[in-house]
Amino acid sequence: MKVFEYMGKFGFEQLVVCYDKTSGLRALIAIHDTTLGPALGGTRFWNYETEDQAIEDVLRLARGMTYKASAAGLNLGGGKGVIWGDAKKDKSEELWRAFGRFVQSLNGRYITAEDVGTTVQDMDLVNLETDHVTGVSKAKGSSGDPSPKTAFGVFRGMQACAKEAWGSDDLKGKVVAVQGVGNVGYYLCKHLHEVGAKQIVCDINQEAIDRVVKEFGVEVVAPDEIYGVDCDIFSPNALGAVANDETIKQFKCKVIAGGANNVLAEDKHGDMLKEKGILYAPDYVINAGGLMNVADELTGYNEERALAKISTIYDNVAKVIEIAKRDNIPTYQAADRMAEERIERVGKMRSNYIRR
Ligand code: NAD
Repeated sequence: MKVFEYMGKFGFEQLVVCYDKTSGLRALIAIHDTTLGPALGGTRFWNYETEDQAIEDVLRLARGMTYKASAAGLNLGGGKGVIWGDAKKDKSEELWRAFGRFVQSLNGRYITAEDVGTTVQDMDLVNLETDHVTGVSKAKGSSGDPSPKTAFGVFRGMQACAKEAWGSDDLKGKVVAVQGVGNVGYYLCKHLHEVGAKQIVCDINQEAIDRVVKEFGVEVVAPDEIYGVDCDIFSPNALGAVANDETIKQFKCKVIAGGANNVLAEDKHGDMLKEKGILYAPDYVINAGGLMNVADELTGYNEERALAKISTIYDNVAKVIEIAKRDNIPTYQAADRMAEERIERVGKMRSNYIRR
């Protein structure tokens, strides 16, 4: 991989290669952009096949965090860590502490957290060596499970979409097809139930289904039927790439708004949704509740303040819709534009000299 060429093309600041002989730690930390603030992003533990794969992954994920944090209105930049190894075999106290020391050596330019393959216990070990870590255990001041917060943000984003699609953000009587009723999906169903929306759900896990049927009286369909059901809103909360060539033909909804990451199989599917008149709430804008929640830990976690921030996902989604209309572009492009415009504006403002 041509690392410098890639970094230049996408505006990266730093790639840190971390190796520790004692623990065998092989880690990479990528810092994409710190215009808005320190780069925050989780650390992924993954058994990559090649070094290049690990580098590509950490760079791609770090850049994604810049956009997510900016669109969320946070004073944070984008970064990510990856540890190359087998999460089942290679973890040890010394490995996590060695990683924590590398994070500490960046002096707050990068703040880590959990991601795929890493746990609260791992972050507690990192925390022995650095304060630049979030997602630690509750006893250490963590914000806890992010799923209810993510779900609340999705609910707020859905309301903003309803306002655009039907002129009112009241979801009462709206038919919402919820794909996946796991952590995020369950709490989303709860919000929808409270406001009197009608729900049609699917999941591959019967227990998860039984819970929402019992608690919220939802209707259930088979997983492959969910795309074509008659509904107002389709809410993906399970898998990525659910807006693709096959599903777009089936959708009867006017809005797509859910917590899942990477909803569009490819960018062209965002264009196809626009052509079909379906309003798509970009994934990283509407599912930023978990990030906003964890970001609140940086100033000493306060749930009320975190929820107030997460509620602004309504405004963020509304702004994306406004930019999409202003520039006549699909919403996925409008989200990127919103994130880039904020970084540019704040960057320019900060170029005014002040003596510290
Ligand atoms: P989860 O594993 O708790 O829930 C996912 C649910 O989807 C499970 O119940 C699973 O059985 C179901 N599922 C899997 N395949 C399915 C299929 N083919 N059809 C129907 N259902 C299927 O995960 P989660 O934490 O609720 O996250 C859901 C999505 O939201 C993921 O894409 C995740 O990356 C994203 N996300 C989650 C958070 C968070 O705070 N948890 C934050 C941002 C984004």
